[in-house]
Amino acid sequence: MTQIIHSVSDLQKWSMEQKRQGKTVGLVPTMGFLHEGHLSLIDTAHAQGADAVAVSIFVNPTQFGPNEDFDRYPRDFEHDRILCEQHGADVIFAPEVNDMYPAAVTCWVQEEEISKGLCGKTRPIHFRGVTTVVTKLFNAALPDLAVFGQKDAQQAAIIKRMVRDLNFPIRIIVSPIVREADGLAMSSRNKYLSADERQRALTLSRSLREAKEALENGTRTDALAECDVIRQKLTASGGVVDYVEALDPETMLPVTSGSQRPVLFALACAYGTTRLIDNMKVD
Ligand code: AMP
Repeated sequence: MTQIIHSVSDLQKWSMEQKRQGKTVGLVPTMGFLHEGHLSLIDTAHAQGADAVAVSIFVNPTQFGPNEDFDRYPRDFEHDRILCEQHGADVIFAPEVNDMYPAAVTCWVQEEEISKGLCGKTRPIHFRGVTTVVTKLFNAALPDLAVFGQKDAQQAAIIKRMVRDLNFPIRIIVSPIVREADGLAMSSRNKYLSADERQRALTLSRSLREAKEALENGTRTDALAECDVIRQKLTASGGVVDYVEALDPETMLPVTSGSQRPVLFALACAYGTTRLIDNMKVD
């Protein structure tokens, strides 16, 4: 039976009790409206040794810009609860905004390198909100390990850096992207897409896969030129490209021309009012 906890202090008590019993506590932070991608993180937490798993469901206002989709972000708590139950989550942590932010925030946690590029360019306060809320969730759940998705590759890299730089005693695990059968990376925001936009949005994963194939089989050799190819395909499909970049998968910094090392292609592109992200590693 999945227990539902609303307050930070109750979650701390729960976590400390698990540890007293010798259990390893795992945390899976989410904004809810759960899909197979989120559920794979719960499974990963178990597989990586968590005996007690808490899933947080919290649409965090501080990571949304003023003109972003905080108000219309999809929510379905009862459905989420059933899915958490099915995947053996021990606890759902579902705080109210007022509980997480009882007063105006004047203290932030901010990563200052990886956060600047990619999504950070068009979403300037986004990662500050993410690192701050994840710190608060860490202090609430006191986990031994926490699982994040490779879908948000930049976010995962920033969290790893934060844990390294600020000495959080937490093992960060990054779990692979879960895709729909046709390749579209699962996302709570896919719900916003019309049937036509959803069809055109397949260009994200398709163009990434084609780039990976071309570079890995040697048909093409330049990762930076490949970004232009991807950009053209996205534009031709009616997408408005935010960025397409070739990055060092470890540092998340742009690769230089002619690099023969593994590359992570990361992109953001909008169809209508829906902005989607995706990424793929090329070995
Ligand atoms: P969100 O609810 O969108 O904030 O995502 C919560 C967590 O689930 C983050 O660590 C995401 O990276 C992860 N996630 C979201 N979509 C996927 C997916 N398709 N595959 C794997 N992980 C995902």
